[in-house]
Amino acid sequence: MRKTIIAGNWKMFKTVAEARELAKSLVDGVKADLGGSALPDIVVCPTFICLPEVLTTVKGSPIAVGAQNMDYRDSGAFTGEIAPPMLTAVGVSYVIIGHSERRQFFGETNHTVNLKVKAALKHGLTPIVCVGEALGEREENLTDSVIKHQISSGLVDITEEEAAKLVVAYEPIWAIGTGKNCEAAEANRVCKHIRDAINELYTHKDKKESSRVADMIPVLYGGSVKPSTIDEQMEQSDIDGALVGGASLKAEEFLPIIKGGAKRQKISASRA
Ligand code: PEP
Repeated sequence: MRKTIIAGNWKMFKTVAEARELAKSLVDGVKADLGGSALPDIVVCPTFICLPEVLTTVKGSPIAVGAQNMDYRDSGAFTGEIAPPMLTAVGVSYVIIGHSERRQFFGETNHTVNLKVKAALKHGLTPIVCVGEALGEREENLTDSVIKHQISSGLVDITEEEAAKLVVAYEPIWAIGTGKNCEAAEANRVCKHIRDAINELYTHKDKKESSRVADMIPVLYGGSVKPSTIDEQMEQSDIDGALVGGASLKAEEFLPIIKGGAKRQKISASRA
């Protein structure tokens, strides 16, 4: 059984006070509306400065906290950066790696993604590795090859055992923050393609049996997820949750999305 994960990426929004308020509304909302439900894993990813306050606010609740980025080194003279042990020391358990905004605006590459994935695994952080194609790549029918390349170069020198600890998010760049949703069936096809690409990566040519490592890895969809889209997305065979940007910034929008994840979690729990 794969976990269902609903993760909110708060990007560069919210002051510390605003982040506390949102986290408190989510804790209260989950308790009130979803108290008796089979919950998905819920993750919120505020800015670095808000992490301690949000961690304190969600303590004792089912909500986990992730960072939106980190450096891959343990410490050093790297002004402005945050190291993995600094995140684990305050109680962060997830980290988003390779978000398209980091690739686009901060020079992140498949190589730095690979270094960061290794660093996250070394420090016991769960990486949410983002992959996705640009609009032009989709229009030129390059989606599958672009994603396969992002996966294979992002996972260089990562063992099969380590790969089992990953979460992957399929985030078509053209759907992020645009209000344009990738159709659920197409998002499902690409999520399955990601799973197949990972399995292929760990299938050794001399072995008859192919690797099934990715069958257990949650693959999320991200890109303009809203309360109105989540049910159809959660009905798909290979979409195990959502990475949500804009709609995670308001409790009244994020809570129904968590509810959508809870429905999927309940169905998969009953099948297990
Ligand atoms: C994101 O930031 O990962 C994202 C998917 O944003 P949005 O939901 O706003 O498209």
